Amino acid sequence: MTELDHTYWMKRAIELAKLCPVVEGAFSVGAVIVGADGTEISTGYSRETDAKVHAEESALDKLDKADPRLATATIYSTLEPCSERATKTRLPCTDRILEAKIPTVVIAWREPSTFVQNCVGVEKLSQEGVTVVELPELADAAMQMNRHLNLS
Ligand SMILES: [Zn+2]
Repeated sequence: MTELDHTYWMKRAIELAKLCPVVEGAFSVGAVIVGADGTEISTGYSRETDAKVHAEESALDKLDKADPRLATATIYSTLEPCSERATKTRLPCTDRILEAKIPTVVIAWREPSTFVQNCVGVEKLSQEGVTVVELPELADAAMQMNRHLNLS
């Protein structure tokens, strides 16, 4: 199995986050799903396909749920996957990732409690046996496109 270049792929996710339509009430997030062999499987960003879609959700929606590559894939997201969402009719991204059985999640920054109190995405994923890697050195770059929000 090839060792994935976390910095390279997180920068790709950050580029995707820049494509998000900017709105007041939500973060701009980018996500990339990368196969074990280092190929890009899917990408997504906030509000890509509709006003409420999340980056990870958008990337996962483009794949077949039974895609065999997911079992060894890594998902890069500029922000910690949500564990609760304002749109109650949709699963939080943490649940979507668990459902897809993606074994590794790489994030640049943890969700501040701006919109949802106590995001426990990282905790929940870890508890379920998912490897979570944080890249704090890229947090600033990942936050750039969210400066219009009053982050607490
Ligand atoms: Zn989400």
